[in-house]
Amino acid sequence: MKRFDVSKAEFEISNFTRIIWRTPRDKELWEPRLNRISRLHALTEYEMVRRGYRRAATYHVTLENFPQFIERIQRDGLIFLPIARSAFYSGFSHKHIPPRRGEPYFWYGVIARTEEDARRFKEASGRRDGHLVIGELLGYPSCCTQFFTEVWNAGVYDPLWEVARNDGSPVVEENPWLKTADKLVIYITDPYPEAIQELRYFGIRVTSHIPHSHRCEETRRVGKKWRKVMEDLDPEAVDWLYEILESPIVWDSYHGVVQVHTPWFIGVTQTYPYLDLRRIVVLNDDRIPWDIYV
Ligand SMILES: [Zn+2]
Repeated sequence: MKRFDVSKAEFEISNFTRIIWRTPRDKELWEPRLNRISRLHALTEYEMVRRGYRRAATYHVTLENFPQFIERIQRDGLIFLPIARSAFYSGFSHKHIPPRRGEPYFWYGVIARTEEDARRFKEASGRRDGHLVIGELLGYPSCCTQFFTEVWNAGVYDPLWEVARNDGSPVVEENPWLKTADKLVIYITDPYPEAIQELRYFGIRVTSHIPHSHRCEETRRVGKKWRKVMEDLDPEAVDWLYEILESPIVWDSYHGVVQVHTPWFIGVTQTYPYLDLRRIVVLNDDRIPWDIYV
């Protein structure tokens, strides 16, 4: 049996992300909170390098912001090495999009503490086997980088289902109406909040790597450092972030679209196109997840 069950659907839906609020009250309360959480994650990416908790981070910078950005990294004693230009896109993307002639673009590159690390990162990012070096420079646990390299090379660019399978939880075939199974479900019990990436498309995450399992000890250890830095920057947003990550979450992926259900909203975005419905149910507390699954 093949290690990864890869579909043959060869298409990709254009980038988009949408939030569907359950009630007007949820929108009023949580929309500004999601913005704060997402901004905090971006700030923490940078701050983790500045404080020496990781050697490098990826960074996106627009031409308008370039002067202030260069001033800032020089003041902080860091290096920025541009790697590629990308056209602007809405929502979440698994890769950069080369801009057409005359089209506005931003620079994608690496921030590092030393020029040598910046060079190593840039060289590795052009190689198919570069993930291990990149993972090490970004401070990702080696167990997770090895796993990611394996699934990425199998062609799965959004491997959350593979993470859930790797947890060792059984895959349940569910179908209340038909004779053959039409959806595959994995129930995750007691995940570490730092290892939940099911909402990352919407900027809701602690660390920036895909864990090899929802109970990866190394991810938890690294995640505690991220949490500490986040608490220094915006403690209120950290409380909201953990409130979400410690709630029931249902991740539904079907034909290239993923819907992530939470108690306050449903996030929708594009993903890797599986041929059947795959669902990850994160059982986070005593609430029955079907209460949120409407
Ligand atoms: Zn790991």
